This record gives sequence, structure tokens and C-alpha cells, in this order.
Amino acid sequence: MIWYPYVQMKHMPTPYNIVDAEGVYLMTDDGRRLIDSVSSWWSVIHGYKHPAINAALKAQVDRFSHVMLGGLSHEPARALSRRLQEWLPGDLDYCFYADSGSVGVEVALKMALQYFVNRGETQRTCVLALEHAYHGDTFKAMEVGDDEDYHFILTAYGAAAKAHVRHIPTTIPALERAFAEHHAELNAFIVEPLLQGAGGMRMYGIDFLRRARELCDQYGALLIFDEVATGFGRTGHRFVADLVQPDILVLGKALTGGYIGHAVTVANHKVYEGFYDDNPAHALMHGPTFMGNALACTAALESIRLFEEGDYLSRIARIERIMRREMEGFADPRVREVRIMGGCLCVEVVDPAVLQGYQEFAAARGVFARPFLCCLYAMVPYVITESELVCITDTMKAWFAEGRASA
Ligand SMILES: *Cc1c(COP(=O)(O)O)cnc(C)c1O
Repeated sequence: MIWYPYVQMKHMPTPYNIVDAEGVYLMTDDGRRLIDSVSSWWSVIHGYKHPAINAALKAQVDRFSHVMLGGLSHEPARALSRRLQEWLPGDLDYCFYADSGSVGVEVALKMALQYFVNRGETQRTCVLALEHAYHGDTFKAMEVGDDEDYHFILTAYGAAAKAHVRHIPTTIPALERAFAEHHAELNAFIVEPLLQGAGGMRMYGIDFLRRARELCDQYGALLIFDEVATGFGRTGHRFVADLVQPDILVLGKALTGGYIGHAVTVANHKVYEGFYDDNPAHALMHGPTFMGNALACTAALESIRLFEEGDYLSRIARIERIMRREMEGFADPRVREVRIMGGCLCVEVVDPAVLQGYQEFAAARGVFARPFLCCLYAMVPYVITESELVCITDTMKAWFAEGRASA
């Protein structure tokens, strides 16, 4: 049987059984049609069963689905690398593939550490990260993360578990203090730029990232943007990396339009050159079995084409406008704050108990939702129509208006 994620199996409600999906809709085996307000963990940006991505995948399946990148190469991986090289800002040109965002983050952190080890700067063993950060569920990703659900690691391993990470809030004074005090031991500063997703849909300003870029340059640390969640328009920008350039950029989730798990860790020239020499020990020793999977690369190429040709940034701006219009004036004593950025809407409640029962309430109104912590949120597919979007926001408001939310 399936062991499901993030849930006490003993008390897990029966999950909705999905038998088909199309556009923004999930079809259940009991005949329900639900708008997916979560985009399958924020990844299905073009909706389900997209004809263009389906066709591209079918054609690739008839050639080959997968060959490894160890000693072999293939056109889908080369074409995606060329596309990313020209599409991503600045000199983010070197693409290292992995099968999930967590592994992409592991690769980025390994790159940053080894970059300095290769230069003989072996004292730079520490990573600066943000409070409430989420970077994935593998061990090093959990270590740089700061999600309460993972603090059992601290209990299990004691303080030593965090010996190589420092966490700061998203304020410029805290940032400046961290660099002033710890710059000699820092190899990288890793952030989810502008929008911290799984840590509670927290939003902060671009000035913080501009200052981070300056300080990384001043003290020689690398800046890593984990855009696994924020990439491909979620913040309203194509990538936050378009505004402030990191040295290493990690993309995942929406990279393949949500079709197949895949991620890419993109390094700039400076980082790549820190590995490129005659010493075999300076090579990047990493190689996920399914890196550069041909189906994943094919889906990603098609997804990027749709994103560009479909003028997605205008679509996302429209989604943001509608969400702002619909949530304007909404207030409730049980609500701490309503936050909106690009294709993300979060209603943060004071007490998580307020959200108990919301999933069933929403499903009865034709919406699939999955609140977490104190967050009632929507991360919609960009192909959503106005009436579908309004259905999601109406459902959120109705939860409070109809007194269904417990006090
Ligand atoms: C989801 C996520 C990850 C992990 O990606 P997986 O594909 O689930 O391993 C890493 N970083 C951020 C910011 C994420 O939102």
C-alpha cells in the first residue's frame, strides 16, 4: 500500500481518488470535478492533459524515454540546456540536471562548498539561510531549511545538526550583521527569493536580495536562489533572478509543466570555472540516475515554449489583479493577513484550527484545496479562467462568512 506524505497514516482521511484530469480540473472516481487550486504542489502551470505537451511526449516515447548522461548525450537534454542558457538572465549557462528539487538543492549546496574547497578555502563550511526556509526533504536541504515540522532532526542529532548553517530573518540589519560576523566561514547564502513557500507563504522585498547580492560580492560568498517554487512566473516575475542575479539558480516543480519530476541547478561562469581545470579531484562528483531524462527535458522544452508564446506574464498579472479585486475589503477576526504576489494568494489565519474541515467544505463547492500551517492558499494553474478563479476566492470567503470556520 501507499505510505502517504506529511500525514499521520493512522488518522489520514481517505484521499480523493483521481481517475482523469484536464485543464484546471481533477476528476474523481465518484464523479466529482474539482478545480485544482494547488496545481499539484505548484507545478502544473499549463493545466492537465495539455495537448502540446502530450504530443511532444508521445513523439519522444517512440524514440526513447531515457538514456543516462554518463558517457551518453541526447538532443532533448542538449536542446533544453541551450534554451535555458539563452532564456535565463546573465551568464547562468551551465545546467546540471536532477530528478527532484531537493536533489537540485543538494547539488547547489555541494557546488558552493566544493567551489571553495577546490580553491583551498577550506574554512568556508557554513551556509547562511533564512528563518522559515524550505528547500526540500533530503538531509542537507532539511538542514538549511527551518521548517518546524523538521525540527525532530535537532532533537535526534542535537545542536551538531545545525553546526554548518546559520538562519536569519528577512531584514537587512540581520543580513548585514550575519555577514559582518560570519563572512569568513560562509560559502553561500541560500534563499527562496521574494516568496517563501512551504515555510508559510511569506513574502519579502527585493531590497533585501539586492543587499544580499552586494554583501556576497563584498565577502566572496556565493548567492543561491532556490526558485523551485518561485520560478516560471509564480511571483509575477518570470524568475526573481531576472531582478537580482544569483551565482547558482535551482529550478524544479513547474520546470516540466508539472508533468515529470525534474530539476536543474544552473551555475554561472564563475562557479563553473571553479571546477574546470586539470585536477580530476576538482570535478563535480554527482550524478542522479535519471538526470536529464529525455521525457522530462522534452516536457520542459514544450512548457517553456508555451510560457513564452502564451504571454504568461500577462496572464499571471491578470490572475493577480483578479485575486486582489476579489479579496479587497475581506477581513475577519480569525484572519491575520491576506497576502498576494503574482500567482500566489495566501490567507493567513491566527489559529490553524480555523482551517479544520476546509478541504471538504471546498470540495463540496468544486475546489480542491490543501491548507497547511496557518495558510489557506491558492497557487493556481496559469490557464485558469476568471470564473474558476473567482470560485476559489468565493469559497475562501464563504468559509468565514458562513461561520464554518471554528472560532
Ligand atoms: C518543493 C520545493 C523543493 C523540493 O522539491 P522536490 O521536487 O519536492 O524535491 C525545494 N525548494 C523549494 C523552494 C520547494 O518549494
